[in-house]
Amino acid sequence: MSSVLPKSIRALAEVLGSLPGIGPKTANRLTFYLLGREIAELERFAQAFSELKKNLVTCSSCHIIAENDPCPICSDDSRDRQKLAVVEEALDVIALEKARFNGLYHVLGGQISPINHIGPEDLTIAQLLDRLRQHDFKEVILATDPSLEGEATALYIDEQIRAAIESGAIKKLTVTRLARGLPVGGDLEYADELTLSRALEGRSSYSQKDQ
Ligand SMILES: [Zn+2]
Repeated sequence: MSSVLPKSIRALAEVLGSLPGIGPKTANRLTFYLLGREIAELERFAQAFSELKKNLVTCSSCHIIAENDPCPICSDDSRDRQKLAVVEEALDVIALEKARFNGLYHVLGGQISPINHIGPEDLTIAQLLDRLRQHDFKEVILATDPSLEGEATALYIDEQIRAAIESGAIKKLTVTRLARGLPVGGDLEYADELTLSRALEGRSSYSQKDQ
């Protein structure tokens, strides 16, 4: 933004422009839009920003961000505690909740991506295996993104679970993967409810050996 403009305007445009999906033009438009709003409204924005990370904890069980540990999902006794959906991020939990999944979750914190230097040790895979050792689940649903990295992550986890079952560390359980119908290369969080519900219903046994 031009240096003839006040510093505060340039500073806000710079901050907004650092957000994902917002280029310099959009950042400038948003800045001028905000300039036209009431001070009270801007203060509400500022307050929402400054309180975003206050009083938040990571659930030690499923690794979702919550106000309490365990989180409301993990402490809800009406949920099906024999089904565990493994997802990449918290937004995927929201998507599966909308699709009426009633089991428990495990948030990985991303996907295995050698290009971005993210290996299995950067995700909560070890914690997932611990969880499977400590609690009896009947089914683990690998609900990672239908992308190359998402598939690679699902494959890696399936292999780890299989090895743990073979060594007797984990009791026998079924590993499933969401059915196709989800757009390949897409993001799970953007899938519409119906597509995701169907993919959830039509999930199939994941391991190559079972086919
Ligand atoms: Zn939890």
